[in-house]
Amino acid sequence: MDCIFCKIIKGEIPSARVFENDKVYAFRDINPQAPVHVLIVPKTHVPSADAIAARNSDLVAAIFEAIPEIAKSEGLTNGYRIITNCGEDGCQTVKHLHFHLLGGKRLSEEMV
Ligand code: AMP
Ligand code: ZN
Repeated sequence: MDCIFCKIIKGEIPSARVFENDKVYAFRDINPQAPVHVLIVPKTHVPSADAIAARNSDLVAAIFEAIPEIAKSEGLTNGYRIITNCGEDGCQTVKHLHFHLLGGKRLSEEMV
């Protein structure tokens, strides 16, 4: 499968890793939108939030269990934002489920 995030997880494409466990991989976004911009992905390929079901929701739980740990290690003591873009109208460009962790500054109130 030609999935850039699967290749990053396998180490075939370099990334700046910030966290990893058996189910979750997190790395710095190549085009950061905030002082801290980390992408958190399941190690198993899931196309988007629209493909989350009982069979794979353990991966989502593992990601959300990792988020406070990553936020702490990134120094996000004053809050942060988690975003997942889904499908065409959600402007999802990489078709491997990922959560953006954004912080390190006061974020815009314009979207959510
Ligand atoms: P989305 O638009 O929600 O699908 O987000 C995809 C994100 O992946 C964008 O913020 C990109 O900057 C980021 N991205 C794409 N390729 C890479 C890469 N090789 N390493 C790190 N981040 C990437
Ligand atoms: Zn993938």
